[in-house]
Order: sequence, then C-alpha cells, then structure tokens
Amino acid sequence: MQASDQKTKLISIVVPVYNEQENIEAFYQEVLTAMENIPYQFEIIFVDDGSSDFTPLILDRLRNSDSRVKAIIFSKNYGHQMALTCGMDNAYGDAVITMDGDLQHPPELIPTLIENWERGFEIVQTIRLDTEGQTWLKKITSKWFYKILNMISNTHIYPGGADFRLMDQKAVASFRLFKEKARFIRGMIGSIGYNQISIEFIAPKRFAGKSKFSITKMLRFALDGVTAYSKTPLRLAFYIGVLMFLASLGMVSYVVYVKWFTNEAVLGWATITASIFFLGGLQLLGIGIIGEYVGRVFEEVKGRPLYLVKAYLQKEENTAKTEDLTQ
Ligand code: UDP
Ligand code: MG
Repeated sequence: MQASDQKTKLISIVVPVYNEQENIEAFYQEVLTAMENIPYQFEIIFVDDGSSDFTPLILDRLRNSDSRVKAIIFSKNYGHQMALTCGMDNAYGDAVITMDGDLQHPPELIPTLIENWERGFEIVQTIRLDTEGQTWLKKITSKWFYKILNMISNTHIYPGGADFRLMDQKAVASFRLFKEKARFIRGMIGSIGYNQISIEFIAPKRFAGKSKFSITKMLRFALDGVTAYSKTPLRLAFYIGVLMFLASLGMVSYVVYVKWFTNEAVLGWATITASIFFLGGLQLLGIGIIGEYVGRVFEEVKGRPLYLVKAYLQKEENTAKTEDLTQ
C-alpha cells in the first residue's frame, strides 16, 4: 500500500459501553498505544447504552479533549448487540473494528487485525480460546450452545466467536442492510460471506467492574441465536408429534387385541394419568416453541426503530445534535 494512500485511510473503532466508568480512560490509553505505529488515521466511536453511572460524562470530556473520539448516547439501555449495530451504522472508516470497552478484547491485537485486512481479508474474526477468570458453568454452557447451534443451523457460527472483529467498509455496508430486531451479530456476520479469516486470542479478566450480562440476558441472547438461525425446534415438535401418533396406534391395537382375544380387561388408571401428564407436557412444550417464533414475528412486524439516540457528541463545537433521532 502506498504511504499517501495509508494516510487518507480511516479506521473506525466501535465500542459499546454500559456503566463502564472505571474502564473508559484505561481503554482509551491502550487504544492510543496500539495505534501508535499504525499508518492510518483512526476514530473511536463509543456507544453509551443507557448508562446510569458517569460513563456519558467521561465520554463528553474525552471527545472535547480529542477530536478522534465520538460518542453516541442512547436514550435507554438497548443491549450490547443494538449498541454495536448503532456504532456500525455510524462508522464510515475504510475498516471498522468492534470491541468491548472493558479491555477483555485486548487493543494490542488491533495491529494484527489490520495486517490481515491489508492482506485482503474483508472480515477478520477473533475467536476466544479461553477467558481468564470465567466461571466453569459459563464455559461449559457456551461450548455446548455453539456445538448445538452449529448442528441445527445452516450458517456456520464460530464457537467462541467474540464480537471483536474487523470489517471492511464493504462488509459493514452489507451488514447495514440487515434490519431484523432479534440480533445475533455473530450469526449475521457468518451469513454475509466475504473473505473471512479467524484469529485466536485469550481474553483477560475485565479491567474493572462486573460483567453486564445477567443469566436472563444470556438466555435471551441464546434464544435469539437459535430462533434466528434454525427452524429445527419447530420441526422437532412436529417429529415428536408423529412419533407419539405412531405410538398411540400401537397402544390402540394392543387394547383392541386384549379386549377381543382375551378374557382380561386392560387396567389402567396409572397409565391414563401418566399419559395425560406426558402428552399435556409435550403439547405445552410444542406450543411454547411455536410461541417463541410467533412472538418474534410479532416483534419484527411492528417495525419499531432498533434504537433511539439521545445525542451525537464530537469535538467540533455546535455539532452535537440533541434531538431524538430515529434510525
Ligand atoms: N454492554 C452494553 N450493553 C449491555 C451490556 C453490555 O453495551 O446491555 C457492553 C459492556 O459495557 C462491554 C461489552 O458490552 O463493553 C461487553 O459486556 P460485558 O463485558 O459485560 O460482557 P462479558 O464480557 O461478561 O460477556
Ligand atoms: Mg467483558
């Protein structure tokens, strides 16, 4: 690449932050260090996901001291995936890097991401081999979740794939065309094609503060992943239905046989009660699965905005728009 070409190229770094007041300054410093010898211009776009601590104030101070820092302030908490989406909607660098603001996605990997982009890869995906200090339960559930999801869906989703990646502007433009509300960005990226490469890393512990992902948030995220990328649960309900129907034919034949060809009667209070509970349970399970999908259809058809922005902040004075803007 020519030196003059490099100077005009821009790297956008998109960072969703939710109550990360203790981490932003350290993160910013580490990015500066990582970008020191990179021959491109860069910008950092923080997306404040409705923080209730001093995060917005810290971002406001930072953008006033460095014109490369921009901040987008959400009107409320919309979740990590929406914050990433908004960041990418507003990132017009030649390459866009998304990463967490708690230093679990090490900024020192940025040069490696950029090298792979220069080699011609349009998506450089990172894979978390391990997370220091992660609970045993989170490790096991995450491993099995990706195994099963890959078994039941047609799209390949990297196990351990983190939302720490570099995307060429072309790939980001394609990503913007996806308007669905139930966002499982790892799956979406897997499905858009382009030249992809993955690089592995070990995630350190969070710099400060606690993980913002509660068990319920993680469960919802996992369900979004399954329902967005697989119809297998629906089919499973159908297959179980067929199986139960065949079994019931066998049972009817047995009852008829006993009645007509023997002198015994079929005893069965316990059998009846057990089968009522069993079948009732199965039916509710089936309805539950359908409900998950129907609920998502309902959410999607409403066509509501994905997120609302309270303010766009950047250094140039008088450019901060403070009205509600709908995407
Ligand atoms: N985050 C966010 N909105 C949320 C939850 C998290 O923007 O509702 C941000 C958070 O500030 C961090 C990143 O997403 O920069 C990853 O979150 P976290 O570190 O809590 O997740 P974990 O690493 O534990 O999976
Ligand atoms: Mg984290």
